[in-house]
Amino acid sequence: MSKIKLIRARQILDSRGVPTVEVEVHTDSSVGISSVPSGASTGKYESVEIRDGDYNNYFGKSVNTVVKNINDVIFYKLKGLSVFDQYLIDDLLISLDGTENKSNLGANTTLGISLSVAKSAANLLNIPLYKYLGGLNSYILPMPMINIINGGKHANTGIAFQEFMIIPIGLNRFYESIKAASEIFYNLKKILIDYNLTTSVGDEGGFAPKINSIEEVLDVLLHSISKSGYVIEKDIMLALDCASSEFYINGYYDYSIFNKFNNNKKSSLEQVLYLEKLVNNYPIISIEDGMSENDWDGWKLLTNKLGDKIQLVGDDLFVTHIDRLDKGIKDNIANAILIKPNQVGTLTETMLTINRAQKSGYNTILSHRSGETEDTVISDLSVAFNSGQIKSGSVSRSERTCKYNRLMKIEQDLCSTYNFFLKNKNFKNCINKKIFRKTTNIKHNI
Ligand code: PGA
Ligand code: ZN
Repeated sequence: MSKIKLIRARQILDSRGVPTVEVEVHTDSSVGISSVPSGASTGKYESVEIRDGDYNNYFGKSVNTVVKNINDVIFYKLKGLSVFDQYLIDDLLISLDGTENKSNLGANTTLGISLSVAKSAANLLNIPLYKYLGGLNSYILPMPMINIINGGKHANTGIAFQEFMIIPIGLNRFYESIKAASEIFYNLKKILIDYNLTTSVGDEGGFAPKINSIEEVLDVLLHSISKSGYVIEKDIMLALDCASSEFYINGYYDYSIFNKFNNNKKSSLEQVLYLEKLVNNYPIISIEDGMSENDWDGWKLLTNKLGDKIQLVGDDLFVTHIDRLDKGIKDNIANAILIKPNQVGTLTETMLTINRAQKSGYNTILSHRSGETEDTVISDLSVAFNSGQIKSGSVSRSERTCKYNRLMKIEQDLCSTYNFFLKNKNFKNCINKKIFRKTTNIKHNI
């Protein structure tokens, strides 16, 4: 019954209108479907995404080779295997690829199949994916990091940092966090209109106004939080994704890359001091990729300065790869890892990286990509592996909100089944002590 009977792939479009792959894995009585997202500010050490490269076909971005390879070759290698043999299937995909960075089959090929196998297995058992993967251990809803102003490569507005996020640290329930985020988002819109700034949105659904300085963006965010009746620091904190690998050139953080009128160039030390100043002046609780993927010394400096005060997240730095994370753990660099399944390419490898991070006291954040699809798999993974946090962009655009909406469904299911919910209010203190995961506070919801 659990044997793979058919695998079918096709080309679809992602949220930017760029081709990506969707894969179906069928058994006699189940099907699992997943689609693969794609980044814009991709890390240099991510597993490779394969595209056709024919400029006349979607400017080189079509994925017909991947589709053909899955339908005509890989299907026959996996035919007859049980969808419950996730490790075996992922191992087989890894060895069929045979490279360190999936440059042979492409991580878009392997991930599409890997996730669809898991979904098909869950559907065969008639249980949700998070329950199949996490069993009784999945009961913690993640705290959302909601990106309401987009900059960097996700908007062409001249702001160097890519994401300005709010984290509803003081709210008790996931749906309350989403309500707060939506109210703040709409007050932000009113403020932008008052300032005559555009209210169109960037790739991740956050506003993309032309604002001159990073400090002014943060001021506008604080204004929108207060205007919405929430208390800064008690209810809501701020988070940044600097995505600084994008403007790290010849050993300097060159802010003119995104704005030619800003001829500010910072050494690693100056970049660290700047981030420290921002943390001292604003309620920032988390900074992602404050330093470049190639600047391990800079990362060390940053961790020494801020690692005991706030969350420091490695995205391009770790690229969900266990060996890069191991180097970070060994050298005591960063204290959290962004988890993007397509950076590594299989469910098994994603799981192993999460386990290693959690065992080593690193926080884990399940994450979308800037080019997304309607697939809500990261929501299920965040609950299945008790990731504690999730990043899925803004509260606008369905490819972003579908992840939050899925979590509101899971929240309702878990409450009615287990009468449990996670109270997140100690996030800040726990992060300071680097024991966030161990002190999650579960309460009965009567
Ligand atoms: P990307 O951006 O998907 O374009 O890489 C998301 C992020 O950097 O976190
Ligand atoms: Zn990032």
